Amino acid sequence: MRGARQLVDLLRSIQDNDKSLGQHFLINDELIAKSIEFGEVSADDHILEIGPGPGVLTEALLAIGCKVTAIEIDAGAVGHLRNVFSKDIANKDLILHHGDALQLKWPSNVTKVVANIPYQISSPLIDLLTRFLRDQWQDCLVKVILLVQEEFAERLVMEYESDVGSLGMTALLDWQCEILAKVAPHHFSPNPKVNSCFIEMIPSHEEFPVDKRLVKQLIHQAFSQRRKKLRTSLKSVPRRLNRVPNWYSQRWKNSYSKLIDDERMDARPEELDFDDWIELTQDFVKFSEEE
Ligand code: SAM
Repeated sequence: MRGARQLVDLLRSIQDNDKSLGQHFLINDELIAKSIEFGEVSADDHILEIGPGPGVLTEALLAIGCKVTAIEIDAGAVGHLRNVFSKDIANKDLILHHGDALQLKWPSNVTKVVANIPYQISSPLIDLLTRFLRDQWQDCLVKVILLVQEEFAERLVMEYESDVGSLGMTALLDWQCEILAKVAPHHFSPNPKVNSCFIEMIPSHEEFPVDKRLVKQLIHQAFSQRRKKLRTSLKSVPRRLNRVPNWYSQRWKNSYSKLIDDERMDARPEELDFDDWIELTQDFVKFSEEE
């Protein structure tokens, strides 16, 4: 094992860090080992790593004997990884893709995602993970371990009252999320300005009596104007309502007009808990069908 410092220095000898790509590399080998431990990674796993960069985590994952698919957007880092891991690539333990992890197709048999991600893709990545989870025909994906910005982690798990919002509420439709540990800036090179956290996301596979996509639209719409009462925020039809099969503007407006005097419409979105959102969505469906 080369270890984190050596891999980071090797990449740095070729090129400078690109901060626009969120290149803050982990330089603490104990924390890298922790990522593997949190992921309970075994030789049977097929791990998806997003943004391997210098390959500090990649090296530790490969040492376990699992298969790794890694997607890196930075051409210089990809060249470096191809040199460092040429043997692992040749014997197909490492499948390395050059491209945007938000655009490329992920292998369908991934069992876990373990990654220190660029913080700017955190939200779209959670959306993509959720779509990946829902589209699986076998339940291969069992765990996701990510290193994310602390503030994002807190919103995802809704740590404090002020964190209650659309990110955490919609995550509850598919995941059990937990903060596992906090990581200080000096464990990265260069140091980010903020603290980071390891988070764990476990698929809940919970079924609901309504289409999850409609629940998400309702929650997003309400939190898009979080200080307003639902009566005001839900009056507008969500821009992406047509993503929900059989839902269109007039159907939404019908439901809204029938629910307008409902006492829940006097609430602000943070006053509703998860079950309230499910019930409210059920009522949206029910009233949209009534004459
Ligand atoms: N995994 C390494 C580590 O732990 O030190 C690097 C992590 S660094 C925070 C994020 C990495 O993601 C960088 O190497 C960056 O080039 C890469 N990256 C940024 N945006 C990406 C994207 N959309 N798809 C794939 N990789 C991306």
